[in-house]
Order: sequence, then structure tokens, then C-alpha cells
Amino acid sequence: MIETIYIESDLLEHPRARSVMKRLPRARVVSCDHYGEVFNPHAQDFRLQKENPSLLIARKRGRMVLPVPPGSGIGAEQDFYFSHLLNCPYDCRYCFLQGSYNSAGLVLFINYEDFMTAVDERIGELGDGERACFFSGYDGDSLALDAVTGFAGEFLSFFEQRPRAWLELRTRSVNTAALLAREPIDNCVVAFSLSPPAVADRLDIGAPPVRSRLKAMAGLARAGWKLGARLDPLLFHDGWERGYKQLIDDLFACVPTSSLHSLSLGPLRFPPKVLEKMRRLHPTDPLLAAPTEEWLGVRVTPRDIHEQMQRLCVECLPASLDKSRVFCWPANEGLARGEQSRLAV
Ligand code: SF4
Repeated sequence: MIETIYIESDLLEHPRARSVMKRLPRARVVSCDHYGEVFNPHAQDFRLQKENPSLLIARKRGRMVLPVPPGSGIGAEQDFYFSHLLNCPYDCRYCFLQGSYNSAGLVLFINYEDFMTAVDERIGELGDGERACFFSGYDGDSLALDAVTGFAGEFLSFFEQRPRAWLELRTRSVNTAALLAREPIDNCVVAFSLSPPAVADRLDIGAPPVRSRLKAMAGLARAGWKLGARLDPLLFHDGWERGYKQLIDDLFACVPTSSLHSLSLGPLRFPPKVLEKMRRLHPTDPLLAAPTEEWLGVRVTPRDIHEQMQRLCVECLPASLDKSRVFCWPANEGLARGEQSRLAV
């Protein structure tokens, strides 16, 4: 429940801000000059704030659309991300966001039109025949707050007119109402992050259970949307073989392979400083205390363990799934083997 909304004072009359505030009628509204006054100060208690985060309504300034870190593509020639939201109402124990910011406040940038202009600029720079994928769930879940932000509806209408660009909505939520209320579009991938329920129930704190996410995927597949399955990060835990095998069986019992745009697999990974901060926030957490090794400048699950997990998942995929739709992090590793990021299996 959001009890406090901080809003940059020049946005008080912005129609989108007004609509957000109308959807949260009980929240106290406090104006500020710049959201950074509330969001950036050091010595904030991230864990305490996470119990009851405030919403900060702000204008995004500076670079609106950025290249994704290498290795995260799903088949387009160019990959970018943009973040209308910083932070997330869920509290996944392995989420790198908790090591990234001083505050757990949810920052909503409401100047959607400026993001759209920047997307158009990137599309204008594409070479002949190139396509670009725009990831919207890098700094927060794409759909978790959609009932408040109206993000999906506005950006689907925008991307619908731009067939060279794909929009990836990445989520652990089941907030699919805006999608089901309209016709599907070809260039949107609604990508659900999934882990075996035994581990997700413990670690995806506040997010809907995996069985609900699978049900939401089934509903979207029936409505004609293209789906993504993100087994990323692969989480090492007791019984992981059985857990991932069952998860993949359950996924394909709900989603026909023809509805699956892409399935991606990747190790648990953190920038080193972020991992240090997360370990300080959760000093006794076994997942964060587990050994890691350096790979391409980030700390990852030891590669031998990760490769075992990845191999098992690939072996469990149905024969009817075109393996060119399976993507493994890091793409550069695949490139070194002359395979792009795709698994030649
Ligand atoms: S849903 Fe995604 S963004 Fe939200 S807490 Fe979990 S990992 Fe982080």
C-alpha cells in the first residue's frame, strides 16, 4: 500500500500525474523540487523503506534510452532499455536493485512522450533490415504497478505503429488486464520470469506464485500474445534438477510452443559492488553468501554449476520448440563459439 506520494512540484497538474494520484486516493501528497532530494540521500534504511515504499513522481532527464548490457538480447540486431520505473513493489531476495539505490522508493517517470521520442531516435539510426528490441523491465518490473501507471496501454499503442521495434514487458506479476483489454500486437513480448515454486515461494517475496504466473501466461497465449519465458537467473538450490524439470513441464503444459517468442537462461549475476551491498543488507542469507566467480566483469554462480543447470534445462525443452528461440547469457560467450547467443542443440 502506497501511503505517501512525493511529486516534483512542476508535475502537480500533469494529466498523467493526476491520473496516478486519483488511483491512490488515500496517499498523502508531498511536493518537492526534484525527486533526488528524497531518493538519493545516503544513510536511508532500505530494508525499512521496502516494507512500505513511497511513490516518487518525477520527470526523467538526460539519456532516456540506453544500450543493454552485453549478452541479454533475444534475437534483434540492436538492444536497448528504458526505465519508466526505478525499483519494484516486490522484494526478490536476489534482486540487484536493492544494491543499486540508496532508497527503496518507487520512482515513476511520467514523461512517457520523451521516452517515445528517444525510442524513435534509436529506430531512426537502425541500418537496413535491422530491428531493435526495447526492454522495459530493467530497473523495475514492467507490469507490477501497471494498474497505477497505465504504462502498458500507452506503450503498446506506440509500439504497434513501429514494426521494426519490439517491446519486451518483463514481469513476475499477473497484471495482464491492459493487454487482455486490447488486440495483441506482433512486436511485443510479454516475458515472465520463472523459477521452481519451491525456491520462488521463498525468494520472490511479494510476487504472485509461479502457478499464477503460468495461468496468466496461458490466458495471454489464448488471446494471441507472444510470450517470453525467462529462466534467468537460474537459482541453485536443493532439488534443482527436479524443480527445473517440473517447471519446464508445467510451462509447456500451459503455453504452446507456437506462442513462445523466446526462452532465456542465465546465471545469477551481480556487479561486484552491488553484491557487496546486498550481502551487507542480508548478512545471513545463504543465497547471497554462496560462492561466486568473476565472469565478464560480474560475480556469477560458479560456471560449472551454472552450465550443469543450463544443460539440464535445455535437455528438458520440448522437441517442438525451435531452438533458435532459446537464448543464453552471455551472448558474447556464444559469439566466441560462433553461435551468437543461441544454443545449437
Ligand atoms: S520482480 Fe524483478 S525488479 Fe521486482 S524485486 Fe523481483 S527481481 Fe527485482
